[in-house]
Amino acid sequence: MRGSPRAAVDGNGMQQDPNCIFCKIARGEIPSRKVYEDDGIVAFHDISPIAPVHLLLIPKVHVATLYETTAAHEAVLGRMMALAGRLAREQGANDGFRTIVNTGRVGRQEVMHVHVHVIGGPDPLGPMIARKGSQGD
Ligand code: AMP
Ligand code: ZN
Repeated sequence: MRGSPRAAVDGNGMQQDPNCIFCKIARGEIPSRKVYEDDGIVAFHDISPIAPVHLLLIPKVHVATLYETTAAHEAVLGRMMALAGRLAREQGANDGFRTIVNTGRVGRQEVMHVHVHVIGGPDPLGPMIARKGSQGD
């Protein structure tokens, strides 16, 4: 068995998906406003920010959702979380921020490559999730 026909391995032995927009950003094939890169992680500005600071942190390895992550991803996922505060502060969110990982249909994930949103700015954000039926949210 050779695995998924959509999977590919890049020159560094990293699993990639040739059709995935975030893999293309990781490979530098489509432009992004990068704020950080190392051998396993890229961070860049969200193209459609919902707050003054809105970064996306992605692993360079292609993994579609948090349903597919395994022990093999623990190190890179941990490093992404460990980086979030530093990158938020560097972008000016130095009084708090929010991290979000949307997963699947219910989580309204749009890009099927695991990513951590880092969202902040000078003012407090709205409520995390509007409560159904509540007034004034
Ligand atoms: P999610 O709903 O968690 O999958 O969020 C996907 C995010 O990716 C959205 O906030 C989009 O604005 C963002 N996005 C999509 N395409 C790009 C791109 N080419 N560069 C930067 N951000 C992107
Ligand atoms: Zn990908």
